[in-house]
Amino acid sequence: MMNIGIVGLGLIGGSVGLDLRTLGYRIFGVSRREQTCQKAIALGVVDEASPELSLLSTADLIFICTPICDIIPTLEKLIPFLSPSAILTDVGSVKIPIVEEASQIWPNFVGGHPMAGKTESGIEIAQLGLFEDRPYVLTPNENTPLESVKKVEAIARLLKSQVYFCEPYEHDRAVAWVSHLPVMASASLIAACMSESNLAIVKLAQELASSGFQDTSRVGGGNPELGRMMAEYNRLEILRSLHSFRDEIDKFIQHIEQKNWQSLEQKLKHTQQNRKLFLPHEN
Ligand code: NAP
Repeated sequence: MMNIGIVGLGLIGGSVGLDLRTLGYRIFGVSRREQTCQKAIALGVVDEASPELSLLSTADLIFICTPICDIIPTLEKLIPFLSPSAILTDVGSVKIPIVEEASQIWPNFVGGHPMAGKTESGIEIAQLGLFEDRPYVLTPNENTPLESVKKVEAIARLLKSQVYFCEPYEHDRAVAWVSHLPVMASASLIAACMSESNLAIVKLAQELASSGFQDTSRVGGGNPELGRMMAEYNRLEILRSLHSFRDEIDKFIQHIEQKNWQSLEQKLKHTQQNRKLFLPHEN
């Protein structure tokens, strides 16, 4: 059985560790803070943990689960400690800025993105089964060793994920629509609600907010560092999707200003149908 290494013991790294350790793999974890390493051991996420990357010298497969901006620098620092056959993979929410550079530094690199998350971040909320029935995208290129791709794919399937293969640019454009745009749209909703000038109304609205608000505000209330990095590292695609979103909002405004109720209802009929195309398993 392979030795698994994980760098960045937070929500995603911790959840990968919990699942794979439960399956019997030996897990070596590295995180920035000693305190997090201790917590990871106490929570049963890893067998051994340290802030030193040298801990990973016997790892066969290493998941880099740091914030996006630290993925490439971590990979560079890892090189001196790696066994020559080690496979590296990452879990970053964007792929173009990672995959090209990473494969040049370490050809045995398989870009990845497990598409599961939670509102909170950090090791304390790592969860068994987080990736079950969720998409797991892999973005190998023509030079990635096939055997390594197969090994990472097999691990993703052990996490019970649904595995998809695509090009990094396809990934970044698709997730701009269904992951990165929703964060900004949902954050805008929360900000707009807070812009109500009558404080008594704001307070009442906060008390009346129920399942509709809970669903639509969830991703806007998530990890701010992650949201910033989605925008920073997938800037052009997220801008493209946000401009289109603004156009759609303008259309709603127009329909309502012009009391064009039939067109509005027609549009909502389409969105009601089309939502099912994105979430077929929920309908
Ligand atoms: P997170 O909960 O904040 O975990 C990241 C952890 O990495 C931190 O808790 C931090 O722990 C550690 N860390 C930070 N810098 C480090 C460094 N230079 N070296 C080693 N450890 C470092 O964030 P996350 O949500 O798990 O996200 C991690 C990655 O997963 C990101 O690349 C993100 O794009 C990707 N991702 C996130 C989601 C999501 O919805 N959350 C979904 C899919 C993929 P200490 O400082 O305490 O040691």
